[in-house]
Amino acid sequence: MSQRIRDFLRRRDEDGPCVVVDLDIVRDNYEAFARSLPDTSVYYAVKANPAPEILSLLESLGSSFDCASVGEIEMVLATGADASRISYGNTIKKERDIAKAYAYGVRLFAVDCVEEVDKIVRVAPGSKVFCRVLCDGVGAEWPLSRKFGCDPDMAPDVLEHAHRNGLTAHGVSFHVGSQQANLQAWDFALAMAAGVFQEMALRGIELKMVNMGGGFPTRYLKDIPGVPTYGSAIFQALTKHFGNRLPSTIIEPGRGMVGNAGLIEAEVVLISKKHDDDAVRWVYLDIGKFHGLAETMDEAIRYPIKTPRDGDATMPCVLAGPTCDSVDVLYEKTPYELPVSLSIGDKILIEACGAYTTTYSSVGFNGFAPLASYVI
Ligand SMILES: *Cc1c(COP(=O)(O)O)cnc(C)c1O
Repeated sequence: MSQRIRDFLRRRDEDGPCVVVDLDIVRDNYEAFARSLPDTSVYYAVKANPAPEILSLLESLGSSFDCASVGEIEMVLATGADASRISYGNTIKKERDIAKAYAYGVRLFAVDCVEEVDKIVRVAPGSKVFCRVLCDGVGAEWPLSRKFGCDPDMAPDVLEHAHRNGLTAHGVSFHVGSQQANLQAWDFALAMAAGVFQEMALRGIELKMVNMGGGFPTRYLKDIPGVPTYGSAIFQALTKHFGNRLPSTIIEPGRGMVGNAGLIEAEVVLISKKHDDDAVRWVYLDIGKFHGLAETMDEAIRYPIKTPRDGDATMPCVLAGPTCDSVDVLYEKTPYELPVSLSIGDKILIEACGAYTTTYSSVGFNGFAPLASYVI
């Protein structure tokens, strides 16, 4: 934990769980991406954490932005960023929202089918589109497969359709799955992208851009390769598949930009057992699946947890949230080792919570306030 977050939490006197994000760490992360992939544009995936302070910092550092909705586009424009720095990267958009984005000046759109291309033809004439291709997400802890993208064999038809209807068929995108620890995933995806470029060239249409998506991991319990390692693996894969005719490239880090910059402070509300002779205790926190920890769904993301009693003997615990909903359990299939001495009222720290927490919090399920968020 950064000293700044430590000092902030010491001074905070409001009750209830909160997430605190340290902008210095976001800045370091941005610079690591910019340095490690110097010829690639960074489009921050706003959905990971749309806090205005984060968007303003990234705007000032020169970042561009990947937006999922008109709401996110408006948040980015509020920083003063020009619309030319925005990609409307959601493949599922209402035609009205495409029209609104176009009126704001956005000219770069994701598609994965001719039906979506047709909407853009109608309300965003002359725009650039890139076609998202399916990626299996193997090796990712939070896969994004199936829902987005088309088969790479279909992509040339989607892009040619765009071209024939007056749009610029700009390129190809993929997402290797979030929290992707396998460096080979980009090699595989870039091979697919190069195949689409070749097929399009045969059809007389020159693509220019590969959007390599997000997937860059944050450190939870396991060590991960650093951004420079990802950068060189990606650069090697690019040269392997595109030779000396490198396309322009984009990355869209979300988790990798803000994940390690934030942590949650929470409180132990209750510790109990279900039978006298249980070897596993239940530990209930004042935060759960409905207050920002949605990525514990299927126990996919396993956050590091620090307690004031670390170092004492531990025992396995089921970790659960405070609401009257039985799915509000964080870790049960694989219980979490926590100190036997952990007590009701203890404050614990859930680390690496800067991404995919604040906006996942419900507005007031069970009467609990949404997760408080501070950016320092
Ligand atoms: C969610 C998303 C990202 C960010 O993914 P991370 O794994 O958090 O880096 C990037 N691009 C698109 C299109 C996304 O949907």
